[in-house]
Amino acid sequence: MATNRRNFIIKTSAGVAAAVVTVPAVATQPRLTEDDPIAIALGYKIDANDVDVTQYPKRAGAAGAAQFCSNCGLYQAQADGHGTCSAIPGKLVAGPGWCNAWIPQT
Ligand code: SF4
Repeated sequence: MATNRRNFIIKTSAGVAAAVVTVPAVATQPRLTEDDPIAIALGYKIDANDVDVTQYPKRAGAAGAAQFCSNCGLYQAQADGHGTCSAIPGKLVAGPGWCNAWIPQT
């Protein structure tokens, strides 16, 4: 029993260590550019005012105009007006930006 517990702890620790090594620190993550394939797929714009509301009617009208990355439920603010987005791991998105995956904060 003690051996099983020790083996579990050793394996779990190794897994955590591997995860820490493979995930880049938030501060070193690149910023998402509009020509990135995932940005194109999601209709991401660095400035939400540049969104074509004909193509993305979700951002039309008063309610749509109030949508920004900075108030999206998937956004976690970091430094310099940028933050992480759980829909786009490994890249920082602009707080004033927007994409079609926007959801309200809960
Ligand atoms: S999901 Fe939210 S935080 Fe991520 S890019 Fe789209 S609007 Fe911005």
